[in-house]
Order: sequence, then structure tokens, then C-alpha cells
Amino acid sequence: MSAEQGHHYINGTWRADAPNGIGDVINPSDGTTLGTAPYGSADLAGEAVIAARAAVETTSWAEDPRLRAKAMLEFADILESRQADIARLMAAENGKVVGQAMHEVAAGFGEARYYAGVARNVFGRTFESGPGKMSLMTREPSGVVSVIVPWNAPVTLLVRSVAPALAAGCTVVIKPAPQTPLTHAAVMACFDDTPSLPKGVVNSVNEYGTEVGTVLSSHPEIDVISFTGSSRTGKTIMANAAETIKHVSLELGGKAPAVVFDDADLDNALAEIKRGVLALNGQMCTCISRVLVQDSVYDEMRDCLVAALGKTKMGSALIGGTELGPLIDSHNQNRILGLIDQAADEATLILRGSAGEGELADGFFVSPSIFEIDDVSHDLVQRELFGPIISLERFVDENEALSKANATRFGLASSVYTSDLNRGMRMSRKLRFGTVWLNCHNRLLAEVETGGYRESGIGRLHGVEAMNDFLETKHVYYETGP
Ligand code: NAD
Repeated sequence: MSAEQGHHYINGTWRADAPNGIGDVINPSDGTTLGTAPYGSADLAGEAVIAARAAVETTSWAEDPRLRAKAMLEFADILESRQADIARLMAAENGKVVGQAMHEVAAGFGEARYYAGVARNVFGRTFESGPGKMSLMTREPSGVVSVIVPWNAPVTLLVRSVAPALAAGCTVVIKPAPQTPLTHAAVMACFDDTPSLPKGVVNSVNEYGTEVGTVLSSHPEIDVISFTGSSRTGKTIMANAAETIKHVSLELGGKAPAVVFDDADLDNALAEIKRGVLALNGQMCTCISRVLVQDSVYDEMRDCLVAALGKTKMGSALIGGTELGPLIDSHNQNRILGLIDQAADEATLILRGSAGEGELADGFFVSPSIFEIDDVSHDLVQRELFGPIISLERFVDENEALSKANATRFGLASSVYTSDLNRGMRMSRKLRFGTVWLNCHNRLLAEVETGGYRESGIGRLHGVEAMNDFLETKHVYYETGP
């Protein structure tokens, strides 16, 4: 079946076109080959855009919210019925430990159900500016949306862009990440099996490189771009979109700080920080990569962190009980090991990560590293490293905690640990991050908006606000006479 081979999906048909070759898909836990995927081209991307344009203009999709709700509920049921298979495929393909992969798929079908409801709640407004002078503000689908996603959460990151776009009445052309074409195709197979979904509403083209992505960010028939990925690529996409003035929604990189005050429940803070650091081995945009600790409990937290992260259970993502899976590929394994060596000359390394050995030697494993650092201008603090490296920083009071936590260009997610709710609320008001969790980390909900300040993005996904990116407001004016 085409889905297992990561084929493209255009106008309701699986396509194996490989104008730019066929690539192997590698299991990062052991280096074995899982399957292949064909790489598309600019022409194929153009074909998918035309199919999506035809679907938004010639089917009833854009004008029938009940049809959209029905299709999304059907899709959610199919995705749920395949949860375990898709989770195992994801664990094999991107190294997410299988329990977390199960949660990810559940978040995907939960999100589709949420937007099935929202699709039936898109209302406009009316205004009477004088006797017999009537304005209608209608909400209309923006048109064709390109959805470009990364590899680290190939189900939820896809559904959280596609579901509000479909709920709004748009059609989509997707470009999945080259690392996860098989999991992606398994989700596309759920769309393919959705009885109420008209052909051409959901399309997808694979690639390795930037040819397809460039078409999807510059084609004149694309109205909106919903991009999730690095801040660097986000800037390129924004520049490509400028020529035809597209609406852009960008969910970009992060550098999440966890700020621990001396009145916090330290056991809880430690448990949350450990989970927040280890989630997909530091390869999530919201992963904790900085731990800021108040002076009086700093030494205690440092020793506990070194002990907790020093004895994580590293292993295949497919084996239950694994705490830490592999990095996505050998390039990133070598990059992270190189960063540790380089930074060890410049900051105090208190826990050194290393590659897997023995039966893990063929996988792309790296265990966690911790650096102590004072200089907020250092790369360890300023750059998104996207791996299991954390910087441990000391602060004296609330003001210093705030100025240190806010000292990067990223503003995606953060967490604060304190038993003083007033302090927690003061901190949440001043932290320049799209999300602030109090006494916990990484609680993402379909109902609640998420997104970034500064170089972490533009716009919000999840929640009702996500619809704003995929709807236009039109003013219709008429005079009936007094
Ligand atoms: P990436 O930016 O390299 O790639 C993301 C996607 O963009 C991939 O599909 C890639 O093929 C495509 N792409 C690359 N160059 C392109 C171009 N010139 N034009 C169009 N498309 C292009 O990111 P990645 O390494 O796959 O993912 C990791 C990054 O994603 C991290 O920075 C992480 O923080 C970020 N991320 C953000 C969120 C969020 O919600 N804010 C969620 C997950 C990941």
C-alpha cells in the first residue's frame, strides 16, 4: 500500500512520482532502514496547489460547515482506530518513545474532534450605521493553505494546523518533513479513508530539500502559510511569502527556561524539569533547555539534577520503560557531541553526555549534559541546541530571574516553580513567552492557544484563535432605505 512507502497524495490519489529521487527512511534507534519515500518537485507541488484551488472553488466544502464537521469526526475516529500502529511507526521513524507517541496520536484525534465543533461556530456580525443602512461582516475561508511541518511531532503538529484550516473551510497542501514520510503517509491514509472528505481538499507532497517548500511559500494560488519549524526557515518562508503578500502563521524555535524559586516544592520541580528536558531527548520546541535556580537552593537543585539526569534509562524508542530515545539522525548526534566538546572549554560541564554503547552503538543516542553558566550571552543560552543539553543558571531575586529568563530572542514557552501564587502571577505577567506554566511544564491543550513571542513566531494555533489565520472578514453593505 502506498502509505507504507510514504507516497505523495494529490487530488485523492496516491502518487509515486520521484523526479528528485527516492530516499531511505532510517530508524534512529538502530540505524536500520524502515522504508522509502519518493521526492517530489516544483511541478508536482504546483499540481497539488491547483487541485486544492479547484476543491475550494468547485466543491461545497467552503460553504458547508456541517460537512466539514462530519468529515473531521470521521477522520478522528479512523485515526483513533489506528492509534497503536501509528504510534509504533512514529517511534520507529523519529525515536519518540512509544508511550509518548501514543499520547501524540491521541492529541491528534482530540484536536480533530475539537475543531469539528468549532467548524459549526463560525459567526459573523451585523451593524446598523443609520436607518436602513446595514453592514454584514461575514467570515469566509481564506482559500488554499500550505502546511509545512517538522519531524518531531508528525501527527499533532500536522493536525493542529490542518484541523483549524479545514474547520474554516480552506483546502490544504502539506509538505511533511523528510525524516518522517511514513508516519505522515499513515495519517494521510486516514484522510484518504474519510468518506465525507471531497477529493482535493487535503493534498501532500514529499521532498528532501527546498524545491517543494519554496513553491508552497511563494505560489500565487496559496493564500495562507501555516509553518512549524525553525526560526531560520521561518524567516526564509516569510521572505518568500512577501512577493504575493500571503498571510503567515509561524510556530518557530524555542529556548524554554524553568525558573525555580526557593519556596518551590523542589521534588515536584525536579520531576517536571526531568520530564521537560527528556521529552524527545530535548528535540521539542518547548523542551526545557535552561534551568534558573534561586541562590539559596541552587546547590541542592544542582546535585539533584545531576543525579536525576545522570541515571536516565536510554534505549530503543520501541521498548516500554525507555526514558530517553535516540536523536533523529547521525548528523544531529555528531552535532550535539561536537557542541558538548566545544562548550566544555568555555563553561563548567557538570554532567557530560555521551553516545550509546554496546547494543545501542548503532543508534543515534546521546545522554544528557548539564553546563553551569553565568554569561547569558553565551551560545549555550542564546542558541536553540535541540538536544539534551541544559544550562544551569543562578539568580538572586525575582528581578534577576526575569531579566535572565527574558534575555534571549526566543519567546515560546517557560515554567515557574514557586509556592507563592502571587509571585507566580507576577512572573507570568512579565515573562515574554507565549506560554507560562506554573509548577509544571509541557501541558498543551487543543482548547487553549499556543504560539510564540519575538523570534518564536507569529499567530496562535490551538483554540478558537487558530481559526483567525484561515478566515477573512468581508464587509457587505446595503441600504434598504429608511
Ligand atoms: P526546519 O525548519 O529545518 O524544517 C521544518 C520544515 O520546513 C520541514 O518540513 C523542512 O523540510 C521544511 N523546510 C526547510 N527549508 C525550507 C524552505 N526553504 N522552504 C520551505 N520549507 C522548508 O525544522 P526541523 O529541524 O525539521 O524542526 C525543528 C525546529 O522546529 C526547531 O527549531 C523547533 O523548535 C521547531 N518547532 C517549533 C514548534 C512550535 O510549535 N513552535 C513545534 C515543533 C518544532
